[in-house]
Amino acid sequence: MDAGIKTADVSFTEEAYDKIVERGIRAEDCVEAIAMIETCGKFLMKENDSRAVLSRMRLGNYCLYVRYDLLPSGSYEVKSAYSHRLKLNSEDSEGAFPENPVIDTKSIWVCNTCQVNVDRVEDIVLRYEDFYSPPGKGFRCPKCGFELLSESQVMGELYAAELMLEAK
Ligand SMILES: [Zn+2]
Repeated sequence: MDAGIKTADVSFTEEAYDKIVERGIRAEDCVEAIAMIETCGKFLMKENDSRAVLSRMRLGNYCLYVRYDLLPSGSYEVKSAYSHRLKLNSEDSEGAFPENPVIDTKSIWVCNTCQVNVDRVEDIVLRYEDFYSPPGKGFRCPKCGFELLSESQVMGELYAAELMLEAK
């Protein structure tokens, strides 16, 4: 596998494991996502703790977010994971900014690619065919445009919206 990351290199906190079971996320998908994230280097890390990582990766028809720590032993510990199926409007064209970006405050997360603190934003849009979601909360790098929705956004309003679309 990419970056040589194997299942044995990835562990889950009890809380994280409960969450992925409840959310129907497979542990092996988290391992695959971490391997891909570590290979491409596209992730956010905490400004005061560069071993704390948050990123996302599209695996087939869903977008998987993983928050994990790089342990001193060189292995990875998953703290949380969440997913959505809708595509981020920016997913295919990273760097295409909304016309009127709402820059709120700098977050504690730093873009690994650009080495700048990412903004906390409230205007992240997802789309499904002709459907555009209401703007959602998350993070956006002011330089490269890399966007991530927050866990509360995905598990709250977005989860409800996806259930609704599924029921159509
Ligand atoms: Zn960036």
